[in-house]
Amino acid sequence: MKLAERMTGLGQETAFLVLVKARELEAQGRDIVHLEVGEPDFDTPAHIIEAACRALQSGYTHYNPSAGLPELRQAIAEDVSQSRGIKVNPKQVVVTPGAKPIMFFTLLALAGPGDEVIYPNPGFPIYESMINFVGAKAVPLRLAEEKDFCCDTDELRSKVTPRTKLIIINSPHNPCGSTLCREDLQAIAEMALKHDITVLADEIYGRISYDGDFASITQFPGMQERTIILDGFSKTYAMTGWRLGYGVMPETLAEQMAKLMSNSNSCTATFTQIAGVAALQGPQDEAYKMVAAFKERRNLIVKGLNSIPGIRCVMPKGAFYVFPNVKEVIKRGKFANCKALAEHLLTEAGVALMSGTAFGEYGEGYLRLSYANSIPNIQKALDRISEAVAKLG
Ligand code: PLP
Repeated sequence: MKLAERMTGLGQETAFLVLVKARELEAQGRDIVHLEVGEPDFDTPAHIIEAACRALQSGYTHYNPSAGLPELRQAIAEDVSQSRGIKVNPKQVVVTPGAKPIMFFTLLALAGPGDEVIYPNPGFPIYESMINFVGAKAVPLRLAEEKDFCCDTDELRSKVTPRTKLIIINSPHNPCGSTLCREDLQAIAEMALKHDITVLADEIYGRISYDGDFASITQFPGMQERTIILDGFSKTYAMTGWRLGYGVMPETLAEQMAKLMSNSNSCTATFTQIAGVAALQGPQDEAYKMVAAFKERRNLIVKGLNSIPGIRCVMPKGAFYVFPNVKEVIKRGKFANCKALAEHLLTEAGVALMSGTAFGEYGEGYLRLSYANSIPNIQKALDRISEAVAKLG
């Protein structure tokens, strides 16, 4: 079967491939610590599960509108208005199965051959994959350790051309854990306004921000009209497997995205949307507890990594990832690259983690560890990495 040309540029999330390798080792009897996949290790709060069960029992088993159930769109509009300090109406909300489709739909709706899209690199691998898929030009914006993996706005300015259609930002950031400060957002907003560029603001980790200083680009004058907020329930409420996310955007674009939903999924599962209403309107203490636990783990993992000779780790401000510099370890162990080191740590030390290059070319020399795992497991992983690195001499 001959595949269509567009399939050649399609990438994927390699965390799932590392997970498969780790599971194979486990099947052989090995003990593996999982720091590869980016999902909370907590269970979905009980009241959300109960709401979904009640919904199923009371007949929420049919199709619903492509853009989402009116009650969930309303609840999201209220939540986003309150959390960002902006005014959102329910018609601006499109509910999707997970937040990922919002990336895909944004690119399908706005970018094509001849357009350029600037995206963070290292960054969530699906941005580059989807930009290529729709035939636009992927323009990487390097996030550098020297800048704490924040956006270098001068470099961003140098990447903007008359063909720039979209800038993708992600704060708090996967894989670096960095956040965009108000000054960065202001500079990006000015560029977007001056050059008539749309912004896709991936705010999926917005609630997992440790210093409480999360800011949204939609808070700057004129930006709500040219921004798509991507958010969802996966990370905040430990609901990755439920597949429930959403986008907030200008109403005219929301109508187009609802059409894309109608053409692809028809709608998002109805009972999960009822659970989404319960998540947003019910008690938030479980969500806060998760963030407090992630913060404690972050402090442990950063301290532990920085105490290993040859590893240097920036303190992340949000999400649940660290992105340590391992260039010295790669050199010492004569590894070809960070991917080879990541494989060594999986097979020799039993720690599943990601290479920096799984998130783009500028991730060379780094690893990504997800600390969405228990304190004893994180400590075990740190001990194993430390021992494996010491053996390299
Ligand atoms: N955006 C970023 C930066 C992510 O890390 C992820 C998931 O890992 C997503 C979006 C997708 O979220 P969902 O699982 O809701 O599709």
